[in-house]
Amino acid sequence: MKTMNKQSMFKLIVLILSVLFLATAVTSVVLAVKYSNSNKELAEMNSQLEDGKSKLDEQISANESLKEENSSQAESFSQQYEKQSKENQSKVDELNQKIKDLNKQLAAKKNPTTTKKNNSSGSTGPVTLPTPTPSTGKTVYLTFDDGPSSYTPQILDTLDKYGVKATFFVKNGGKYNYVMKDIVNRGHSIGLHTYTHDYKKIYSSDTAFFNDLNKISDLVYEQTGVRTKIMRFPGGTSNTVSKKYSKGIMSRLSKSVTEQGYVYFDWNCSNGDADGANTVQKQLNFCSQYPKSASTVIVLMHDTKSTTRDALPKIIEYYKSCGFQFGVLTTSSPRIQHRVNN
Ligand SMILES: [Zn+2]
Repeated sequence: MKTMNKQSMFKLIVLILSVLFLATAVTSVVLAVKYSNSNKELAEMNSQLEDGKSKLDEQISANESLKEENSSQAESFSQQYEKQSKENQSKVDELNQKIKDLNKQLAAKKNPTTTKKNNSSGSTGPVTLPTPTPSTGKTVYLTFDDGPSSYTPQILDTLDKYGVKATFFVKNGGKYNYVMKDIVNRGHSIGLHTYTHDYKKIYSSDTAFFNDLNKISDLVYEQTGVRTKIMRFPGGTSNTVSKKYSKGIMSRLSKSVTEQGYVYFDWNCSNGDADGANTVQKQLNFCSQYPKSASTVIVLMHDTKSTTRDALPKIIEYYKSCGFQFGVLTTSSPRIQHRVNN
């Protein structure tokens, strides 16, 4: 019984081992098949990926060549555009020049006497003299403030050319102070307009004003040998700027300068050169706005403005056409004085 048992035990073990072995073998085969299948799948996926990648590469290179093409097209477009706009601009310039020429011709036909002279004096365009108002027997005083400047010598030349005398209210002109002597030598009148023309300083107190006035008086005397007694307040006697620096100063100064033997002059006409009249025509229009009933016209101008230099020939021609005589201001000239506002 014991042996039988041993034998059958052995058989049983062999059987179990065989079953185990078989099972292992079957599993291995199944796994191997599975593995080879997934390998195949992987290979397939790989090849699909490869395909995709090469397609992508193709697309990229196609895009790049398209991009290059586009940019070269854009470049040629912009070159073309530039060329075209240059051509257009030159056409526009040409047309503008033609318009200018035609305008000149038209103006020359309208006003044959003024155009040519005006152009030769270097001013800005055709000018028409305002219609003259008969003013025979009346006197116009041309006055120039704020100089001497680089324009003063040319203004003196114009005055000489027309045989006209004027009045210059001067301030310290620095390197142009030598022109003061020329003003006097050529028969014009010279007056004081303060040394600094600095409102803040001169209108800060009566003493400050007279210190400044004495300084310009001495300078004019040094330069010309003339101790002048005519003057003009910066901003005119009617200025209100002085209120900011000293209340009532214009009322006091207008009395005290008179007490010191000065005669001060304002104006009843101007060429507008301090009010934006920056063309010859505009200045002429201002000049024609003098009070028609007045027998004395004092015109305010500035010999520090190039337009005033350019306009002066026409301004003189205009007043001549009205029949005015030209005067220079002295202490005994008719006084045009503004109402004091401070
Ligand atoms: Zn001034």
